[in-house]
Amino acid sequence: GNGELTKMEHAHKIPKIKFTQLFIDGHFVDSVRGRTFETVDPRTGEVIAWIAEGDKEDVDLAVKAARRAFDDGPWPRMSGYERSRVMMRFADLIVENAEELAGLDSLDAGKLFSWGKAVDMPNAAAMVRYYAGAADKIHGEVLKMSGALQGITLREPIGVVGIIVPWNFPTGIFFTKVAPALAAGCTMVVKPAEQTPLSALFYANLAKQAGIPDGVINVVTGFGPTAGAAVSHHMDIDMVNFTGSTEVGRQIMQAAAVSNLKTVSLELGGKSPLLIFNDADIDKAADLALLGVLFNKGEVCTASSRVYVQEGIYEEFKKKLVEKTKVWLVGDPFDPSTNQGPQVDKNQFEKILSYIEQGKVEGAKLLVGGNPMGREGYYIPPTIFIDVKDNMRIAREEIFGPVMSLMKFKTVEEGIKRANDTRYGLAAGIVTKDLNLANTVSRSIRAGIIWINCNLALDRDCPFGGYKMSGFGRDMGMEGLHKYLQVKSVVTPIYNSPW
Ligand code: ADP
Repeated sequence: GNGELTKMEHAHKIPKIKFTQLFIDGHFVDSVRGRTFETVDPRTGEVIAWIAEGDKEDVDLAVKAARRAFDDGPWPRMSGYERSRVMMRFADLIVENAEELAGLDSLDAGKLFSWGKAVDMPNAAAMVRYYAGAADKIHGEVLKMSGALQGITLREPIGVVGIIVPWNFPTGIFFTKVAPALAAGCTMVVKPAEQTPLSALFYANLAKQAGIPDGVINVVTGFGPTAGAAVSHHMDIDMVNFTGSTEVGRQIMQAAAVSNLKTVSLELGGKSPLLIFNDADIDKAADLALLGVLFNKGEVCTASSRVYVQEGIYEEFKKKLVEKTKVWLVGDPFDPSTNQGPQVDKNQFEKILSYIEQGKVEGAKLLVGGNPMGREGYYIPPTIFIDVKDNMRIAREEIFGPVMSLMKFKTVEEGIKRANDTRYGLAAGIVTKDLNLANTVSRSIRAGIIWINCNLALDRDCPFGGYKMSGFGRDMGMEGLHKYLQVKSVVTPIYNSPW
């Protein structure tokens, strides 16, 4: 669908925006300076709400509340079972409000509404339940030590956590970090992305309704260099967990180093390769390749933006790709027939278009796409470059849009070498029916997750994070819980010890 008709047809799905203030110590409040910033609807570029603009003073207040809640409050002192019960209620509330929440993310980020309601929200609830299930299973070890001594380890919550969230998955990444931090008994200050603050504020309200004590989750909306930097520089935050660009990740680590040496966990950019071998099912491989770069309009840190196809099937694969992009619908994210919505904002839209220009200037050729859709809003169609050289910027830098570089390779060794020829190491994909080949390649690529005959598959039980300049630390799985815990050793003599 398109234009006015679509807008009216789906008007009932568009939620009212209820929460626009900072959430500190259990209350919605204006920022200390009283400033606000706008958030826009990427379908039109229109302002949809004015949001409280938090800065250093507000982060200070939020950290004070989180510190009190950690040092004196009930949350870290409750049994894991009690925390788990509260978290289960939180999860139920996410499901009950799924439609409204999905609407907020569509309105704010241009994400597909039907996907949000059917997949993102149930997954967010499942993430909370997964970690709720772990909250009463946090154990240390008994140590043998030498003769006269006995030791145990305690796993204790790390303390006040700063959580900095990007705009591409305002719900998914929020819960990937908040849910295990809650289970661990931490308290937190969350700084959502300035492009997508709406759902995080709604979650703060649900957390309160669920019975999460005041001060445990604080949400300070605002900009990166002000509110975000105040989090990473804060002397009273024990850990900062960040997802975003490699450039900002570097600043966060510096800020941690010059302030209080807080623990840092960084999930950063990627330029992930997808290797398609001669024996692959071409139809399936084409689906995986398109999914890899078009899902969520390419605004995915694991997007497989470098597609390497072995020469035996290259021409046929290319034809398949073109065919499949013809039935791919770009349009209003509230329309259930849409495959791809608008880019998140004007900045990203222009950044992607400038990469496309750069690709043309460097001599790559457009197989499909390349121009913005001729309509209001930030829509860019699937764009595929051929004749791409490994050293071109479009093949090296993260574009964060629906733009694929399609390349050809001959031997397995060459494929592995070129796949690894990047500073990033977040993810990689392999399409082949040959098990030995899949095993060899998956062990040869330096990346945090390898997909064999699938793409972008993530799950709460599967640790996720980067190699190389894609960061360090893992979210999700038990690794994602353990990072919020620190190990304390307690030693006692067993009998009359000389120590
Ligand atoms: P992207 O390129 O995906 O927008 P960014 O790394 O710029 O990613 O932003 C991700 C998150 O980091 C956002 O919440 C943003 O506000 C925040 N951020 C940006 N700059 C800084 C900074 N200097 N310090 C702390 N946080 C920042």
